[in-house]
Amino acid sequence: MATQRVLDFLATRRPAGPCLVVDLDVVRDNFHAFEKALPDSKIYYAVKANPAPEILRLLAAMGSSFDTASVAEVEMAMDAGAPADRISFGNTIKKERDILRAYELGIRLFAVDCVEEVDKIARAAPGARVFCRVLTDGEGAEWPLSRKFGCVPAMAVDVLRHAKARGLDAYGVSFHVGSQQCDLTAWDRALGDAKKVFATLAEEGIVLKMVNMGGGFPTRYLKDVPAAQAYGQAIFGSLRKHFGNQIPETIIEPGRGMVGNAGVIKSEVVLISKKADNDNVRWVYLDIGKFGGLAETMDEAIRYPIVTRHDGGEVAPCVLAGPTCDSADVMYEKTPYPLPLSLTIGDEVLIEGTGAYTTTYSAVAFNGFEPLRSYVI
Ligand SMILES: *Cc1c(COP(=O)(O)O)cnc(C)c1O
Repeated sequence: MATQRVLDFLATRRPAGPCLVVDLDVVRDNFHAFEKALPDSKIYYAVKANPAPEILRLLAAMGSSFDTASVAEVEMAMDAGAPADRISFGNTIKKERDILRAYELGIRLFAVDCVEEVDKIARAAPGARVFCRVLTDGEGAEWPLSRKFGCVPAMAVDVLRHAKARGLDAYGVSFHVGSQQCDLTAWDRALGDAKKVFATLAEEGIVLKMVNMGGGFPTRYLKDVPAAQAYGQAIFGSLRKHFGNQIPETIIEPGRGMVGNAGVIKSEVVLISKKADNDNVRWVYLDIGKFGGLAETMDEAIRYPIVTRHDGGEVAPCVLAGPTCDSADVMYEKTPYPLPLSLTIGDEVLIEGTGAYTTTYSAVAFNGFEPLRSYVI
């Protein structure tokens, strides 16, 4: 929901064109909610969700750590005031020279999911801590993460054993249960797998210390989602179940859950039309689409709440599309979006829950449309 601060900002500043407005008060509340829900876990904010300097500075000042995926993200976190020991290089796919650069900047915590990556780290970041990512099924997630990252638990054992042999600190196991994960039990299956890796390596005298439980915490779009507290309880229950009274250090890496509900995109209706006189579905073209920041509408995965000044009136199904000349720039067609019949060309609409994965997904100048402007207040 748009906060009063955001509504006031839009009303007084009247920014031209589509833009994202992020309310830092909401980010602060989200950080506190995660701290409270999982008091024993360290929070590594996933920078890619929204790397606005104001957000990174706020979180750094609140004591957050940062999950980064590139040297540029490492530098953004450092510029925001985060010391190197609060930054992890969490991408499993890194160039060796980027590992070296991160190591020179002081980074000592790296993700791996294969022995090939371990070898790079052993050469470029000798003695560093590594954690191995295991695959999850991603079931229950609205934005699942596929098989691109992670390996099966049995292979994680080999990867971490290899890390130890190469002089690295075999530090732990990580996973990501899929983004916008609304199934509280998803972490339980993954923690069960993590425990297996811990137990197998312990028999060989390799004692892992950390489980990185990733992101996946949802933002409310059209449907209610469980609160951070419910996730905390479920996850703590699973940690107890699998690790008993030897619960390791834990990390969470919220991205969407930290900033999603803090942002609202203001957009304008450019055109409303039909494809035939007798169509009952209208086409509503906005000045923002898949290439302007709403990439997560791909396959209609994320369905954003849209607020108009006509809400409460009679609604009819609409196909929603962006302004570019690319035919893929259609957001909701399979399942049309109900919008008020009185919506007209020139109306402003608010697209809520857009604080995460929007500015970073916005194309630089496709068709001459500017990248998504953002105001952090
Ligand atoms: C993207 C990402 C996250 C954040 O995921 P959310 O679902 O947005 O919370 C966390 N960890 C890693 C390794 C990621 O790549």
